[in-house]
Amino acid sequence: MASTQQAKDKATDEITYLRPVSNCAGCGDTKVSWSVLEGIRRFNRKLKLKGKNKYELIYVADRGCGNLQGYHAYRIVDAIFCMGSGAIVGDGIKESCSDKQIVVTASGDGAFNFNISGIKFAAKNQKFGAINVIYNNYNIRMTGGQIPLEVDFDKEGLALGFEVLHINPYRVDDNAKLFSRLYERYLKKEKIMVVAEGVCVLDMGKDVKGAGIRMGRFKRSEKCLDLKFFKERERMAREEPEKLKDLPKFKCRLCGIGLRCHALLNNDPNQCFGCGSCTQFPCPAGALSFEGPSFSMSTNTEELSKI
Ligand code: SF4
Ligand code: SF4
Repeated sequence: MASTQQAKDKATDEITYLRPVSNCAGCGDTKVSWSVLEGIRRFNRKLKLKGKNKYELIYVADRGCGNLQGYHAYRIVDAIFCMGSGAIVGDGIKESCSDKQIVVTASGDGAFNFNISGIKFAAKNQKFGAINVIYNNYNIRMTGGQIPLEVDFDKEGLALGFEVLHINPYRVDDNAKLFSRLYERYLKKEKIMVVAEGVCVLDMGKDVKGAGIRMGRFKRSEKCLDLKFFKERERMAREEPEKLKDLPKFKCRLCGIGLRCHALLNNDPNQCFGCGSCTQFPCPAGALSFEGPSFSMSTNTEELSKI
């Protein structure tokens, strides 16, 4: 049984590694979804829940950059339909959930307006809590970068019945802590809207470049389990090539897979967008760091220029 499971896990890992990461390296959406998932792990750990007693996350999304990420291989998004569907489909799913399942819904800022009726239903529904994530990149990237209808989330979210929180998507550890607390509040039937501000690293990258700001890069120390393993593979290739076929392809890909970042998967600082999520990623070997200005400090160009 164990060997079947091991084979299954290995196959999944290999698929994950070989399949190209679909979002841009520094995409803020992927960083928020790591925090959403990590939050539920921490929530279960805090309550000392194991096995069947654990709370399970159900993540229901619109279609868009923020939600196509990891639909299959990374097991982030459980259900995805079209723009404007996330909140209302999530409301429906809640009706058939067990009390050990927590539903998080998500859309981009462009589709916020398509989701208003679903968001309103979620706010009025007294039976369940609601956590609605908005990936705010200030345009509709999926269909070519059109400017969406202007939304004042603080006013509109509040009017719809939500408490509105704004987060920096790249502060992944802070956000995981936040989501862990929000799951507790969800179970008390509270309604919270989380607006992740500045998730498009391509747009922000152009802005900072235009302002003459040079963003920093991630660094991996020699303690990195994967780098050590890579050296061992090289040695084996030289000295004992016959043993190479029995070695797995990698030792640790936690940061690259977790943050879904090409720069980390390829260990290539030139592919790093300087998002800064690496500063807060809990590397098991303490090997990951970041040097220089990053979007985790601020997603605002003017503020970054003063750092
Ligand atoms: S999580 Fe840490 S040990 Fe694992 S690959 Fe990333 S830097 Fe290396
Ligand atoms: S800071 Fe880390 S997560 Fe962000 S783009 Fe660079 S390597 Fe990727």
